[in-house]
Amino acid sequence: MMNKVLFLVAVIVAVMASSVKAFTLNMMSGRKPLMGGNWKLNPQTTKDATSLATEFAKKVKGKTDVDIVIFPPHPFLFPVYEKVEATNVQMGGQNCFFESDGAYTGAVSTCMLQDVGVKYVLCGHSERRCVFKDDDTAIARKVKKVIKQGMNAVLCFGETQEEYEAGLNHEVCAIQLLKDLSMVTPEEMSQVVLAYEPVWAIGTGLVCPADVAQEVHQFCRSVIAKKYGQAIADKVIIQYGGSVKPENVKEIMSQPDIDGCLVGGASLTADSFAKIVHFNDQ
Ligand code: PEP
Repeated sequence: MMNKVLFLVAVIVAVMASSVKAFTLNMMSGRKPLMGGNWKLNPQTTKDATSLATEFAKKVKGKTDVDIVIFPPHPFLFPVYEKVEATNVQMGGQNCFFESDGAYTGAVSTCMLQDVGVKYVLCGHSERRCVFKDDDTAIARKVKKVIKQGMNAVLCFGETQEEYEAGLNHEVCAIQLLKDLSMVTPEEMSQVVLAYEPVWAIGTGLVCPADVAQEVHQFCRSVIAKKYGQAIADKVIIQYGGSVKPENVKEIMSQPDIDGCLVGGASLTADSFAKIVHFNDQ
């Protein structure tokens, strides 16, 4: 009888240990998970944007073991900020310009973003690279400008499908990281978040297998270690982005070098993004 009880206790402990493994690993590393919701060109009205933010904030109220940031389109930043200002949901900008002011029609400065509550700014998202032709020089300047403004730069990088199939994911990531961080000092790295986003997995429903993503994250951390030293590499948050959903987030987050997710499509409904944020509560 005693043996049976001991066996049962051992099984329960083993199950509990494996289910908290992901979170514990990240806690051991001292890196707090960061979940970001990139709304891209959605929704279309202030009313829909503020409702989405309000509903989402309600669902993640009191969740303090994960940092949370949403990236609404620029015109909705202030109305959304007014809704989430007193909550645990932080504000992010999807883009910025590297100049402070002047004759730059259509541009948005880092000062303007900060003035409407923004704490994080995406730099180098693949849609900016591919559609708007942001190159590494411009991205490096944006990263620096965001940091100088006192905000956090979320530097997105990742390989295309052709590059992935050619086995070039490490090379592509290393080149983008080194070029885009070329102006960042070691002291400024505490204001940088990295987001590995394989282009072929963004908005396609194709998720990079968790073990492949882990291996790329580990490699990218080693690139940071070579440039800035191991202590800084151990602290830097590296998010994964590419078709993250409530169904796959737990497996992704169970990888020791994956410290959060950047979520596009699934951040557009309060319920699915809240489930992603609550990945370690099930
Ligand atoms: C993104 O926009 O950064 C993204 C990862 O999109 P999705 O989650 O839709 O693939």
